[in-house]
Amino acid sequence: MAATGNSPGDYEAGPRTAGGHARPGGAGQMGFFTDTTLCIGCKACEVACKQWNQLPADGFEWTGNSYDNTAELSATSWRHVKFIEQIPEMGVSGPPGSAWDDAGRWLMMSDVCKHCVAAPCQHACPTGAIIHNEFDNVYIQPDICNGCAYCIAACPFGVITRSTIDGHAHKCTLCFDRQRDGLVPACAKACPTESIQFGPIDELRVRARERVETLHERGVKDAYLYGDTSWETYSELNSFYLLVDRPSVYGLPDTPLNPWLAMKGDYVRAVATGLVSIAVLLAALLLGRA
Ligand code: SF4
Ligand code: SF4
Ligand code: SF4
Repeated sequence: MAATGNSPGDYEAGPRTAGGHARPGGAGQMGFFTDTTLCIGCKACEVACKQWNQLPADGFEWTGNSYDNTAELSATSWRHVKFIEQIPEMGVSGPPGSAWDDAGRWLMMSDVCKHCVAAPCQHACPTGAIIHNEFDNVYIQPDICNGCAYCIAACPFGVITRSTIDGHAHKCTLCFDRQRDGLVPACAKACPTESIQFGPIDELRVRARERVETLHERGVKDAYLYGDTSWETYSELNSFYLLVDRPSVYGLPDTPLNPWLAMKGDYVRAVATGLVSIAVLLAALLLGRA
C-alpha cells in the first residue's frame, strides 16, 4: 500500500510550498481522505479520539442498528463509525448483476467533521469562536463559544452539538494539538487498515483519485469521491470520502447546501423592508408638520 502520511516519518508539520492553498502565515491545508472500502468497523478510531481528547463515554445504549452503539456524532463523540447492512434477506439488494447481489454487504464509514473549506458553522458564529486554523481546519475555541447553537443549525452534516456538561459547542478539532506537535491525529494513527488517511489535502486528493481508478479496474465500478471537489451549492471538503453507494445511504446529503445561498433573498427582503419603513416614517413626519 502506498505511504499514507499516517506514519510519523511520512508527515512533518510546518509550512508547505506546494499546492497553492496555504493561508497567509499558515502551515497549509491538512485533512482526511477516508476510504470507506477499507473500513472494517473496529471502532479503534472512535476509541482513540475519546481517549486522546478525554471525552466521556455516552453510555452503553443498544441502538438496535447493527453494531452501532454511538448512534451519531455529538459533543462527546467526535468520530462515529456507521454500519449500513445491505442484506437481500432484509429486503435490501444491490444493483442487478453487482458482485454482492446474493451475499449482501456491509458498508462501514467512520464519520467526522468535514472541515469544509467554506464552513457555514464558522459563518454563523456570532462570537468568532469558530476559526480556520493554520492547518486550514475548522476549529471551535470553547472559551469564546457562548453556546448560542447557531453553528449547529448551520451545519448541513449534523456534526456539531452543544455539550450538556459545559454548555459549549464541540466537534472534531482535527487534533490541532497533535498537529502542532508534528503528530498524526489520533484516529488516523489508530486505524489499522488505513481507511482514515491524513496528510496535505492536495496529496490526498491525488491519492484518492488513483484509488478510485484502481477500484474501477478491480470491478468496483461504483466507487467515487464525495467532497474532493466543490458542488454548485457547497465548497469542497478538507475531510472527504470514497463511497460505493449514494451519499444518502451513508446519511450524507446527496448535494449539500450552504444555507447562506438560501439566505441572500432574505437579506434583500429585509433591507428593502427597512428602506420602505424609513421612507414611510419620513413621509408621515413630513405630512404631520405640514
Ligand atoms: S461539517 Fe459542519 S461542523 Fe464541520 S466544518 Fe462543515 S459546517 Fe462546520
Ligand atoms: S482528528 Fe482528533 S479530534 Fe478529530 S476525530 Fe480524529 S482523533 Fe478525534
Ligand atoms: S479504525 Fe479504521 S477500520 Fe476501524 S472503524 Fe475506524 S476507520 Fe474503520
